[in-house]
Amino acid sequence: MPYGYNGKILHINLTTGALTVEQPPESFYRQYMGGSALNMHYLLQDMPPHADPLGPDNILALSVGVATGAAISGQSRMTATAKSPLTGVIGDAQSGGFFPAEMKFAGFDAFIIKGRSPRPVYLWVNDGRYELRDASRLWGKITGEVEDLLKEELGFNDIEVAQIGPAGEREVRFAAIINMSNRANGRTGMGAVMGSKNLKAVVVRGKEGKKNFAVADKESLLNLARHGAKIFPDSFAFSMGKYGTAETVGAQQAVGGLPGLNFNSGVFEGWEAIDGPTMYDTILRGATDDRQDRRGRDTCYACTIRCKRVVEITTGPYRVDPRYGGPEYETISTFGSYCGIDNLPAIAYANQLCNQYGMDTISCGATIAWAMEAFEAGKLTPADTGGLELTFGNAEVMVKLVKMIAAGEGFGKILAMGSHAAAETIGRGTDAYLITSHRQEAPAHMPQLKPSLSVIYATNPFGADHQSSEHDPVYEGGFKYYQDRLASIGLTEKQPKRSLGPEKIRFARITQHLYSLLDSANLCQFVYGPAWQLYDVAQTRDTINFVTGWDATIKESLQVGERRLNMLRAFNAREGVDRSQDTLPEKFFKPLRGGRSEGLKIDKAEFEAALDDYYRQSDWDVETGIPTRRKLDELGLGWVAELLEA
Ligand code: SF4
Repeated sequence: MPYGYNGKILHINLTTGALTVEQPPESFYRQYMGGSALNMHYLLQDMPPHADPLGPDNILALSVGVATGAAISGQSRMTATAKSPLTGVIGDAQSGGFFPAEMKFAGFDAFIIKGRSPRPVYLWVNDGRYELRDASRLWGKITGEVEDLLKEELGFNDIEVAQIGPAGEREVRFAAIINMSNRANGRTGMGAVMGSKNLKAVVVRGKEGKKNFAVADKESLLNLARHGAKIFPDSFAFSMGKYGTAETVGAQQAVGGLPGLNFNSGVFEGWEAIDGPTMYDTILRGATDDRQDRRGRDTCYACTIRCKRVVEITTGPYRVDPRYGGPEYETISTFGSYCGIDNLPAIAYANQLCNQYGMDTISCGATIAWAMEAFEAGKLTPADTGGLELTFGNAEVMVKLVKMIAAGEGFGKILAMGSHAAAETIGRGTDAYLITSHRQEAPAHMPQLKPSLSVIYATNPFGADHQSSEHDPVYEGGFKYYQDRLASIGLTEKQPKRSLGPEKIRFARITQHLYSLLDSANLCQFVYGPAWQLYDVAQTRDTINFVTGWDATIKESLQVGERRLNMLRAFNAREGVDRSQDTLPEKFFKPLRGGRSEGLKIDKAEFEAALDDYYRQSDWDVETGIPTRRKLDELGLGWVAELLEA
């Protein structure tokens, strides 16, 4: 067994209560590494086609990665994968925090969860020992309360808890799995799958495991960690240490890339009230303390960057407990600029509600923005909304809707289906206001300005996602530093601004394979990556090798990412998904209004030609968008090809 891994996977059958341990060979780990690719191995192998996402046949796989728990930044990540109740096809989401490292220390590389428990339970894993325990008294409680009750019941303060909130119990289609009460496996409804299985929480503790954790080349890994800490103050990642991802608000507004009023504009006039510096100066925990280090900064296990913001509000209608963290850029945008809301305390409070009740802030905020636009257009009326006036800019109504979604009350029950299913249910042309691909709401990065994202949003197997490839600006000039780093993965032909030709598609694909590797090795995309991140691609490979003792090349590592992507795509193909579902919302083809992006839109013909390029370069069938047998064989996935041919 290579260093870094436990070599053990725990299989949990919630229907029978059976718990069994599998010990895969080293070749299995080298082929899949962990995270999403490892999870997909079990989903493809063990889940029957056309399983009900909220039925017992769905499989929820939670796994850590190759370097999780090692003493270097950006390694404490956990991936949740299952068939998604939001998209109807594959779902996949990552989280950070301290849970992933503790899960590794507790003795397992993955939990593969099948069936449905007849009553609420939680999984307790303590230094290699494991059991299912009754969770009746935890059911219906919010995340912070559950953590406290579990610490009291188990008698340990040093546990880590990944859990669902009441929204997951009610199967809100975009329910999240939350750890530390403020980190989320947010996207694609993994919390609803966990809720459908009557699994309230997974609780881990690894005191002995932490002591015994070893890597193959400790000295080289330490040198890389020291190097990272040394270059951090001069790195592009440094600014995240002060304002967190919230600093992106101002940067996007400046270029016309901040989605305003449900993606009709690339600017929002109230942006300054909700950006990173305002958060830093007003609601950041300890905002009145002069010492930056004492201001609400939080981190994941052993990470130097400390990009997580913690806010606190003690007066007014929107009181926020620092335990529930602070809003990220995507959250500020979806509850803020998407909804035309410039009230930062209300946004922070909506973020808190999502962390307490367990919901994805992106889908939640974007679904409310969709409803607001439909209301403004007269397609929804107070008769639909229970008398609520869903106008853009109405912070009070936005917060009320978040509560109603979590509680499954009134109009909140419709919104809890996600915007796509809600538009199907309501009809009346409300689908014109959707911003979904593969039924998932788009995050706050605009393909109108970053055209390669149009192809990624449309083709990504689990729907519109901004963390599945690098964004266009790094390959459109900018810093020489970026160009030097991109050259290491063969990207040497700097592209014109907003181009969508074959070379831009090549850039999107190669970086997609890299990001796909990161979601399999479970490494943070703010720390490892092709351009602005702390560590470059060679250092990413080195991290994997220093931990395991392998001699993996960059090519082999990227192939793990390509393998994962093809497995995700093959899963969807088996469910009947093909090129015809690789679409963008109609409004992306209409001109944006206002600011520097006034008039920008995606050209339909150029987009279709780019899709052709993307499939061709991927060795996927251009007509169907399905991976070819040749490609699957090349990736060692002949067994997946056979599943597709069966
Ligand atoms: S960069 Fe931020 S999200 Fe990534 S591991 Fe570090 S603290 Fe966590």
